[in-house]
Amino acid sequence: MRAAVMHSPGSPLVIEERPRPRPRSGLVVDVLACGVCHTDLDLLDSEFTRTPHVLGHEVVVAGPGGEPCLVYGSWGCRRCSHCRSGDEAMCEGVIIVGVHADGGHAEALVVPDESYLYPIGDLDPAMAAPLADAGATSYRAVRRAMPASRAVVIGVGGLGQFAIQWLRLVADCSVTAVDTAPAKLCRALELGADEAFLPMAEMEPAPAVLDFVGTPESLHLARSVVQRQGRIVIVGGGGGTMPVGMEAIPYETWVTTSIMGSRSDVTTVLDHAQRGNVECHVEVLPLDDANTALGRLREGGVTGRLVLTL
Ligand SMILES: [Zn+2]
Ligand SMILES: [Zn+2]
Repeated sequence: MRAAVMHSPGSPLVIEERPRPRPRSGLVVDVLACGVCHTDLDLLDSEFTRTPHVLGHEVVVAGPGGEPCLVYGSWGCRRCSHCRSGDEAMCEGVIIVGVHADGGHAEALVVPDESYLYPIGDLDPAMAAPLADAGATSYRAVRRAMPASRAVVIGVGGLGQFAIQWLRLVADCSVTAVDTAPAKLCRALELGADEAFLPMAEMEPAPAVLDFVGTPESLHLARSVVQRQGRIVIVGGGGGTMPVGMEAIPYETWVTTSIMGSRSDVTTVLDHAQRGNVECHVEVLPLDDANTALGRLREGGVTGRLVLTL
């Protein structure tokens, strides 16, 4: 099977032929589409991942009966309280597809079993793939940031674009979007944001701030626009940290990180997508263009989601 393989940190992926997986346990499934996420870039640049490794955690596969399915990509121990409540992303022993296990930038991958496959019905596989992370992770973050009458969304990439829609759709929350790219600010307004600013603009403090970037600069902004007793939800893995202390943040502000969605988050976002309630602007590329996709993401000019199709 063909796969885009990471052989060493920071080096381009190698598109190569490798044997189809033959695991002792688990289910081998054919990949139909897989999103390209900023996290893939972070992983490519880090020493965190063992190599050789296949990236890709927004995966749509052909299920055992051929039906297209979204992969719930957080694979827990299935014994702890988090796993039993359907929140395997929180399991101490979680294996995340494309992070700890080979992901979907290949013609096939191994999932633990059928319970991790969620049929997507009539949705197009490439359109559905981003729901696995961009859709569900942002949904979780919004759920955890609410209730609030107004939210500042920092970073209008794949996740931020979904977050704007969730805030309008399920939380009836007004949205201020912030990004360094003017094209993404236009996109934010199209998706329902009430206002959109470059990071240096003066902004009204808000009760909820969602940071999808996570750099020192974005966290500084998050801290400076949150209200007293507000909530800061950090989703972006940009490597920044934030001081927390009596005079470091507004009084009684909650600061939390937020990770990948639970099983019920995935079910909810799939349901909204199937009813046409959310849109995701997707640009489809072949697997051979995996490096091109990562390069474009690195440059920051991608206004939608890049998805590789197999
Ligand atoms: Zn991701
Ligand atoms: Zn567990």
